[in-house]
Amino acid sequence: MSEIGKRIVVVGAGITGLSAAAAARDLGMSVTVIDDARPSRATYAAAGMLAPYSEAIVGDGELGAQMVEALSLWDSWRRGLQVPDELFEFVPTKFVPATFGDRQEIARWARDAGLELVESAQGLQGPLEALTEPRELVRHVREQLLDLGVVFVDGVVSRVTETDDSVVVARDGAESISGDLGLIATGASSVVADDSLLIRPVRGSLVVLDGPARNEPQVARVLRHGRPLYVIWRRSGEIVIGATSVETSLNVAEAGEVQVMLSDAIETFPELRQLPFREVRTGLRPTATSNTLNSRVSAHGRYLQLAGHYRHGILMAPLSSRRVREFLA
Ligand SMILES: Cc1cc2nc3c(=O)[nH]c(=O)nc-3n(C[C@H](O)[C@H](O)[C@H](O)COP(=O)(O)OP(=O)(O)OC[C@H]3O[C@@H](n4cnc5c(N)ncnc54)[C@H](O)[C@@H]3O)c2cc1C
Repeated sequence: MSEIGKRIVVVGAGITGLSAAAAARDLGMSVTVIDDARPSRATYAAAGMLAPYSEAIVGDGELGAQMVEALSLWDSWRRGLQVPDELFEFVPTKFVPATFGDRQEIARWARDAGLELVESAQGLQGPLEALTEPRELVRHVREQLLDLGVVFVDGVVSRVTETDDSVVVARDGAESISGDLGLIATGASSVVADDSLLIRPVRGSLVVLDGPARNEPQVARVLRHGRPLYVIWRRSGEIVIGATSVETSLNVAEAGEVQVMLSDAIETFPELRQLPFREVRTGLRPTATSNTLNSRVSAHGRYLQLAGHYRHGILMAPLSSRRVREFLA
């Protein structure tokens, strides 16, 4: 049966909801996206590394395979949404150990993760990975969806319910919106359906400095006395130092974690010391018990919940999109 013209309601306009909305629109459906722009949304805090190798978790083969596949699909996914070339760029990741012990630790981790690191004049290099800028990315995707006729509605969703042939999205202080099918992508901070997937919030914070514009981006993965840290130098001059990982639903950056990130970054790269400080960003990463990408179809098959994007939701956007296509097929 053709689904063309069906009314789809998407809850959440982070990267997951937007990629879901794009997949539904591409299948010819009529799409409405509802979002409350809450401060804890992860997409607006994210660094934008598309990094299946340097983010590998030893022993988690399923997640690793998802991440590698996502990177292989990313370029064609973003082209399909007219996302400009400068928002997808391959960058070699440099590994920077601070001490002999840190170097041994990186070597052990790479061996266990099956990763080859190459010693070169530039330092210890990993495989090529990619970089995007999440805020610009979602701005472009959103504009593209508006051009394609997707409707965006501001509002807090209190509940999603279903009948045999429809889905009803209840909003705080406003009329409900109903559709034929629903897609729920509310990230870590909101349970809106009775049979929601179990998701735990993992807070991440990062620091942004203003550096000079540069010809090439650069990514360094630092291990300093056992503490991991990354530093991204973007072409625009923006420098991103991140990111912490704390199992909590409290979306605040603690002074101590910011202090440690900054001092580790500055001790490793002293030239950062005098750069203007721009901001600290925090967000709650939506994390499933397994750390892997997860989804669930509701009892009557009227809505799909997408969750578990953890530290990799920007990278995983093409897989979210594919899962939505399977659901809507
Ligand atoms: C500091 C940090 C750095 C990161 N770096 C990277 C990285 O380099 N690469 C990478 O791939 N990933 C990274 N991530 C992870 C990535 O940001 C997340 O996995 C991804 O953004 C999750 O997207 P989402 O759309 O599922 O959730 P979110 O971005 O949280 O979006 C959920 C949306 O739903 C809305 N919402 C929630 N509840 C309701 C409700 N009841 N009613 C209406 N709207 C609602 C929210 O307002 C929000 O807009 C990082 C995360 C953090 C925090």
